[in-house]
Amino acid sequence: MQQAVVTPRLPRGSGKDSARIVRWLTVLGMGVALGMLALGTMVLLDARQDAWHQAEQASNNLVLALERDIARNIAVLDLSLEGAIAAMQLPGLDQASPEIRHMALFDRAGSAEYLGAVLVLDRDGNIFADSTSLLPRRLNLADRDYFRIHRDWPKAGLYVSRPFQSRLTGEEPTLAISRRLSDSDGEFAGVAVGSLRLAYFQDMFGKLDVGAGGSVALFRTDGRLVARHPSRPDDVNRDLSRSYAFQRMAMMTNGSFVATSSMDGVRRRFTFRHIGNLPLILSVAVSVDEVYAAWWHKARIIGSILVFLCGATVLLCLLFRREMLRRIAAESALTKAAGKLAVMAATDGLTDLANRRQFDLNLDREWRQAARDGTPLALLLLDADGFKSFNDRHGHQEGDQVLRSIAACIRDTVRHPADAGARYGGEEFAVLLPDTDAAGALAVAERLRAAVEALGIPHAGSPNGRVTASIGVATAWPHAGEGPAMLVREADAALYEAKQGGRNRVSGARRGDVPGSVWMPAM
Ligand code: GH3
Ligand code: MG
Ligand code: MG
Repeated sequence: MQQAVVTPRLPRGSGKDSARIVRWLTVLGMGVALGMLALGTMVLLDARQDAWHQAEQASNNLVLALERDIARNIAVLDLSLEGAIAAMQLPGLDQASPEIRHMALFDRAGSAEYLGAVLVLDRDGNIFADSTSLLPRRLNLADRDYFRIHRDWPKAGLYVSRPFQSRLTGEEPTLAISRRLSDSDGEFAGVAVGSLRLAYFQDMFGKLDVGAGGSVALFRTDGRLVARHPSRPDDVNRDLSRSYAFQRMAMMTNGSFVATSSMDGVRRRFTFRHIGNLPLILSVAVSVDEVYAAWWHKARIIGSILVFLCGATVLLCLLFRREMLRRIAAESALTKAAGKLAVMAATDGLTDLANRRQFDLNLDREWRQAARDGTPLALLLLDADGFKSFNDRHGHQEGDQVLRSIAACIRDTVRHPADAGARYGGEEFAVLLPDTDAAGALAVAERLRAAVEALGIPHAGSPNGRVTASIGVATAWPHAGEGPAMLVREADAALYEAKQGGRNRVSGARRGDVPGSVWMPAM
């Protein structure tokens, strides 16, 4: 295979490598952006859960504190009732003076801001004794639910009434706590009842901060609303037994859940607790929107910044990728163009063999290589015979065609990969044969001469009638201390000899076959 031109060394596959690196960098950049987004989302979701837990904790604590307060007040009232019931069993109470009777009955009656009167009703519902006055007011309360319950159901125990408008305190909304009075036979003998103003709950609930959308409510276990904050007219005694929220609360003694309020349509988180063994349920509800409001505010700001940063990172990655790919494409086009230029600069346009400039470089390189390796180097100089007259007879274009054919002969004849044929100038060619001794070089030259003759291109001006060529051969054992000029001169001289000898022949000169020997003619 003829190596006509030694092409310049270009970085191989560097474009592909760079494109791969750019792709990886882009993926990495996108990965970092996505990682940032994922991390931010995780932190925000965590903060959201924290907000929920905090609200949960606050509600739980509130419910517990309220439950204790309410249970304690009712227990105080119950203590009064039990005191009155115990006093009613005392013999001779009927005969005692009103002052003694009052003292005996209401000795244990506690007094607090919201606690109303403790009454003892007889079996007909008339007031028998009143903690607030020595002379009981004339009033019949047999229509009250607590009276009827105790009369009809001996096992009612401590009963909490439905809220009602008190006739004793000027129609004030009140809740009654009552117990049954039995005579010695266990028959119904009346009712001991204490009242608790609903203002107690209303004021207590009103002081709590459950947010604008929050609510605090007290229910009876039958679904009747006792008190609620925020309060609305007609809230008291409202029947909520069929609302989803109430049904959830009725199922367990305490717990929490999220539901939409049937009263105002606000979605709330309810925390509820039954008050001791009493038929009362307390619930604290906070608006779900409010629980998350602060978090939403933070999430919007952080989220926007995060999305902006990630978007910017992704955009930068894409821009970087586009720019880098552009550069790589431009670089590769440049490299290709430079390669083509280098090949063109080293190639002879007519024959596609190496040109004179490239030949000089090759000669220099091979000379030094041979000097290093201690191998011989041969040079063939080929000159077409009577070419001027060929041009004159057949025209310049035909002459060019002949030169191409001779170049093809050189390529076909000189097969060694290291051998380089070149157009030396005009109708002269040069062939370098590294690591080839004189005999080898002469053989190659002879083959080449025969190949040109065998082309059989008619040449009327030639004694043979066809195109022929003369070849001068020189062989040397190069030394580091001297250049290749002598080799060229010797080949030229040999060529001259061949021309002188009659053309269409090979003439050789050599510096012997022994390394280091002097120049000698080969034939
Ligand atoms: P000789 O046998 O002594 O070599 O005779 P010659 O005619 O070949 O010798 P000379 O060196 O005087 O002539 C060389 C001719 O080669 C001159 C020119 O017309 C021709 N020639 C040189 N370069 C080219 C070329 O590129 N194309 C063509 N067609 N002819 C060329
Ligand atoms: Mg010539
Ligand atoms: Mg010639």
